[in-house]
Amino acid sequence: MEHTKLNGSCLCGAVSYEVTAPFALMVHCHCSRCRKGTGTGHATNLIAPPTQFTWLTGEEALSHFDLPSAKSFSKWFCTQCGSPMPRLTRDGQRMIIPAGSLDSVPPIQPSDHIFWGSRAPWACDSSGLPTHDEYPESWK
Ligand SMILES: [Zn+2]
Ligand SMILES: [Zn+2]
Repeated sequence: MEHTKLNGSCLCGAVSYEVTAPFALMVHCHCSRCRKGTGTGHATNLIAPPTQFTWLTGEEALSHFDLPSAKSFSKWFCTQCGSPMPRLTRDGQRMIIPAGSLDSVPPIQPSDHIFWGSRAPWACDSSGLPTHDEYPESWK
């Protein structure tokens, strides 16, 4: 099994972390929450078990927002620069890692577009990857 150590950090550098491959998934999410939370057309996230994740610096600079109307959507961010940072799902089962926060190249590529049914009219095209209106059937 591959055990590549990857590093990530926020824009100002206060917060940094380390995560060990392999990742469960890497997907593009086009839901309206991800659009608001990232300020762009979609979020690209990696998913890993929390046991493979460690904060290195700046954990005290993190803040988070749990969307009250959502079961699990939340956003963790650096309070100095506002960059989206990895978050632990509210059930404690997964780390959702914004791919753009990585300083290393992950050994995985995005496999799917999810919440394609909610995409903005100006979204990037699917580049031939499978698209799902919400979550893929196999995740339910
Ligand atoms: Zn920062
Ligand atoms: Zn989303």
